[in-house]
Amino acid sequence: MLVPMQSVKECCYNAAMNDNFPQMCERLANELRKASRILCLTGAGVSAESGVPTFRDAEGLWEGARPEEVATPEAFERDPDHVWRFYLARRQNLVAVRPNPAHEVIGRFEQIFPEFDVVTQNVDGLHQQAGSERIQCLHGDIWIDRCTECGHEERATSVAEARPMCPKCGEPSRPGVVWFGEMLPPGVFERAVELASLAEVVLVVGTSSQVYPAASLADFAKRNGAFVAEINPNATAFSASADLVIPREAGKMFPELESRLAKIVQK
Ligand SMILES: [Zn+2]
Repeated sequence: MLVPMQSVKECCYNAAMNDNFPQMCERLANELRKASRILCLTGAGVSAESGVPTFRDAEGLWEGARPEEVATPEAFERDPDHVWRFYLARRQNLVAVRPNPAHEVIGRFEQIFPEFDVVTQNVDGLHQQAGSERIQCLHGDIWIDRCTECGHEERATSVAEARPMCPKCGEPSRPGVVWFGEMLPPGVFERAVELASLAEVVLVVGTSSQVYPAASLADFAKRNGAFVAEINPNATAFSASADLVIPREAGKMFPELESRLAKIVQK
């Protein structure tokens, strides 16, 4: 009987994961132990494990909205109230969301390793809530209000009812996220590239490795000699290039990794 190629691959992939999970974590712990510069690249999968809806549904809707109606500069120009209603609702949904064990371990790693940085595609602030301070947010931060006139940024501490105005100049603010068709925040990608070029170990976590330019960072690090580990329950475009693939949810892998690291340190 002919079995579709994809099924064979998936089957082997899952079998490998069940047999080798502890050994894979042990190997990664050993690589981390030897490294002084570590970079953790995170994507939507890490937030999804906390219950943040991050993907478009079958109808192409994104949290019930069409991306072109809520996530472009043109949409904001046309109807800022509509765009803000969407973002205020997203903030409201995030109030009840908590960091998961992956965020928490990643936050603690910053205290353990001398140089541990996070570059994330996520805008929800969960890494920061879990203690990450050395963090580059490639796609901005949903909790930032940025003035459309003077550029002043203000961190929202609660969910407002109406769209915010700039406290400095009184002009309308916009959400501090990167919309479709916009440039990444100044300096953030450059810093991410620098971190990728310096890192000895790179963890690529919960990202489909399809959103450019974020996806290029793992490739770039690999070409610069880093040991690159991918942590993702599903195979991605990057899997074949990774030095190690751990096909598990980040929230399961990071606690295991942390306890293995602790044992190595004790030895
Ligand atoms: Zn202003």
